[in-house]
Amino acid sequence: MLSMTETKIATELQLAIERDELFLVYQPKIDLRTGDVVGVEALARWEHAEFGSVDTAAFVATAERFGIIDSFTEWVLLKALRQWVAWCEQGIKINIAFNVSALSLRDVFLPDFLHKCCQREGVPTECITVEVTEGATQHVVKLLDTLTRIRLKGMALSLDDFGTGYSSLLQLRQLPYSELKIDQCFVQECIASREARLIVQSVVNLAHGLGLAATAEGVEDMETLAFLKELGCDRAQGFAISHPLQGAALPDWIVRCAPQWRARCGDPSNKLRLVSSN
Ligand code: C2E
Ligand code: MG
Ligand code: MG
Repeated sequence: MLSMTETKIATELQLAIERDELFLVYQPKIDLRTGDVVGVEALARWEHAEFGSVDTAAFVATAERFGIIDSFTEWVLLKALRQWVAWCEQGIKINIAFNVSALSLRDVFLPDFLHKCCQREGVPTECITVEVTEGATQHVVKLLDTLTRIRLKGMALSLDDFGTGYSSLLQLRQLPYSELKIDQCFVQECIASREARLIVQSVVNLAHGLGLAATAEGVEDMETLAFLKELGCDRAQGFAISHPLQGAALPDWIVRCAPQWRARCGDPSNKLRLVSSN
């Protein structure tokens, strides 16, 4: 890929949002106890005509630095809601999670805006999860009001990337989360490293002690998945289950793969059963 300066990325991103050139992909999350597909996470993608695929974390950071983040958040929300409606028309009613930058959460009217958009598009707020990552410049403990309003509107609230960066225990005590996502750096090491394993176990216990669901992100292999299931981790997401999918591909994935996940996870011994994947 050719490289762009950050100012160029910002200008092009603004245009891409206005021209509706970005798109979302969706990664399934499964319930490790039952194997049910409990939701999907929407992840933004940008294929630039000249520069090719642009790294998502990088362009989100640019959007934050260049004041484009609110229009990006709005674009993501509307795309995700419309995709939910399209799936619903095909008989698939599934929780959809999307990432919201802590910077966008400074806007106290955001919960109302989310609620109004859900009403207008016909999406029940119970089908929406807001995933929050604490940013370097915006500490979420200051966002108690906004986050509480999001919960009161019926949406679920997920603390993303727990255990890294700025996310702190203080947040867990003060903020009305419903789900805690264990950062993939711990999940991916938990077979090889005793320390990572202990951290994952402790975070699952911590989540449960606080009445939250524990979700492991970035699960890349069946051994890790089996370990997480035995540990009592509630949900998992990662390449071992599915790479992020185009919206139109999800219904087919559900038809083909959901029964297999139920067969793998539904064993009363709480062990992951390996069944053929085709
Ligand atoms: P995140 O929300 O923690 O998303 C998880 C990232 O891990 C995604 O990268 C996903 O594609 C990747 N992933 C999923 N399963 C696996 C796995 O098994 N192994 C590995 N190695 N990676 C896996 P992606 O899509 O590049 O997104 C990176 C970050 O960018 C996200 O982290 C999120 O913080 C941010 N982001 C993505 N989409 C949006 C968006 O629409 N809005 C905002 N504000 N941020 C977004
Ligand atoms: Mg996320
Ligand atoms: Mg994450």
